[in-house]
Amino acid sequence: MSDNIQTVEVLSKTTWTPNLFSFTVSRPDSFKFTAGQFVRLGVNPSQLKHYKHADSQTKETAPDEDIFRAYSIVSSPFDEVLEFFSIVIADGAFTSQLQYLQVSDELLLNTTPFGFLTLARYQKPDPKDLWLLATGTGLAPFLSMLQDLQTWQDYEHIVLAYSARSLDELAYVEQIERLQEDFGALVDNPATLTFIPIVTREEVEGALSDRLPKLLTDGTLQKRAGIALDIDSTHIMLCGNPDMVEDTKETLKSLGLVMNRRGEGNIAVENYW
Ligand SMILES: Cc1cc2nc3c(=O)[nH]c(=O)nc-3n(C[C@H](O)[C@H](O)[C@H](O)COP(=O)(O)OP(=O)(O)OC[C@H]3O[C@@H](n4cnc5c(N)ncnc54)[C@H](O)[C@@H]3O)c2cc1C
Repeated sequence: MSDNIQTVEVLSKTTWTPNLFSFTVSRPDSFKFTAGQFVRLGVNPSQLKHYKHADSQTKETAPDEDIFRAYSIVSSPFDEVLEFFSIVIADGAFTSQLQYLQVSDELLLNTTPFGFLTLARYQKPDPKDLWLLATGTGLAPFLSMLQDLQTWQDYEHIVLAYSARSLDELAYVEQIERLQEDFGALVDNPATLTFIPIVTREEVEGALSDRLPKLLTDGTLQKRAGIALDIDSTHIMLCGNPDMVEDTKETLKSLGLVMNRRGEGNIAVENYW
């Protein structure tokens, strides 16, 4: 096993829907990361103790070698454990195995943190309004940022728009609704968080229902957020489904914002596939 791969133990598991779950693992003492980064997690199917619960067809075809995938870290850089939020893809090599993990199972963690979807990338404009737009598990890096006190300290307004297909796929809502109190309250003059849930395939009271590009083009999102998009005061991050990321990015450009390059500019993105 390479030097930067360590074994971590599964400490808890939360099942949101048959296709969405979260879990925490032990955090190696030496492992450091910045909110918004991702790691590579690995499974060896034969090491998942409860793998016997997998259906027989998957079991027969399961490879016995380690499989690694990129996972954004949900927990804050200051937490004692590492938390992750995962999709289950029925025929996905990784998640068709990972879905069976149980407390006390072991996973592999590559302890090199990756990624530039971090707030430190913004040198210009100065921090004022932070927009975090996520679909599905793309919420993960934003939860890490929102549990970092520096984020609350640095911004005046934070808008979290989080889109899922159905209400039950809108995970972490209770935790999101407590963020202002749990983290904002710990700093002087904290940012004000506006949470905007979006549910695209069913009518849900209080949630918007259109895709992000439309909500931005017709101004619904800005109206709900109570602030405008402005080249001189907006930092805006997109994470999740590549179609959403691409279409939203183009929409934002048409509204006058620019990609963040070498520290300057408004828009930063991360695609999950
Ligand atoms: C930088 C980065 C960070 C990531 N962070 C996360 C994370 O925090 N949580 C997470 O669940 N996944 C995350 N992913 C995706 C993850 O790496 C795997 O693709 C996912 O675990 C599925 O693996 P798989 O082998 O089962 O299927 P794969 O063969 O990897 O994917 C099969 C197909 O499933 C779909 N798919 C893959 N991932 C997702 C997803 N997250 N949501 C919806 N559809 C998807 C796509 O259509 C993809 O083509 C991240 C990817 C990248 C590049």
